[in-house]
Amino acid sequence: MAGLLQGKIAIITGAASGIGRAAVAVFVEQGARVVAGDISPKVQALADPKRVVPVVGDVSKREGAEALVRTAEREFGGLDVLFNNAGIERLATVVDTTEELWHEVLDVNLKSVFLCSRYAIPAMLKRGGGAIVNNASINGIRGKPTLAAYQASKGGVVALTYSIAIDYAAQGIRCNAVCPATIDTPMVGARTPEQLVQMKAKHPMGRIGRPEEVAWVACFLASDKASFLTGLAVPVAGGRDIR
Ligand code: NAD
Repeated sequence: MAGLLQGKIAIITGAASGIGRAAVAVFVEQGARVVAGDISPKVQALADPKRVVPVVGDVSKREGAEALVRTAEREFGGLDVLFNNAGIERLATVVDTTEELWHEVLDVNLKSVFLCSRYAIPAMLKRGGGAIVNNASINGIRGKPTLAAYQASKGGVVALTYSIAIDYAAQGIRCNAVCPATIDTPMVGARTPEQLVQMKAKHPMGRIGRPEEVAWVACFLASDKASFLTGLAVPVAGGRDIR
């Protein structure tokens, strides 16, 4: 049986770790060829002739975003799917947030979505359409303490998802967001065991999520099986969003 992304050409940002790395595995398993971008050289370990081309670069910079799209066109002949996944988390209230911290978080989490989409959409239009999936966060639609810049960036990602969805719906480009609750990745791994117990308790399922549980939702939203879905912000949250 053909995979959900059979024949598709995809870019995944933040591909070296966590949800991005899980997405590379799921997208490839489902038939996609993938340009895997990350600021970390660790992404080079994902190289797989004909299926995964790693690119080391910073998606908060124009050059880094453009290089991903140009690589997809040069190596695979075009672009169908963009999974904007790269992100960083910094803990601080608004008063404790320096201007430098604000710019760092907003640039990596939100400006990167703008930049990658800006270069990806014209490439997708050349092939008659495509799909963008943005990794926002449950914190883009719900509140959490000491997360001012992160929360603002993820709220921005959700709003930008709506903007892209409306502007390009008639031209065959769909744009949706996933909004994960706590997922077991290195972003969360730095927490103490006590904090981990508290995190699990916040989810009605009594556990935190696995990276592949977000990757599969992104895969479905990116696929033609989601052909009438656009402008959604989908919680991948074990029920945390309805509590
Ligand atoms: P992670 O730290 O494991 O992976 C993030 C990846 O992004 C890393 O490989 C990192 O090198 C890369 N990256 C960071 N800055 C970059 C830049 N400027 N250019 C290119 N790559 C860059 O974290 P994760 O949990 O897999 O996070 C993936 C996404 O999921 C993020 O956007 C995060 O905000 C979001 N998210 C995570 C959780 C969670 O609980 N883990 C919850 C909600 C949302």
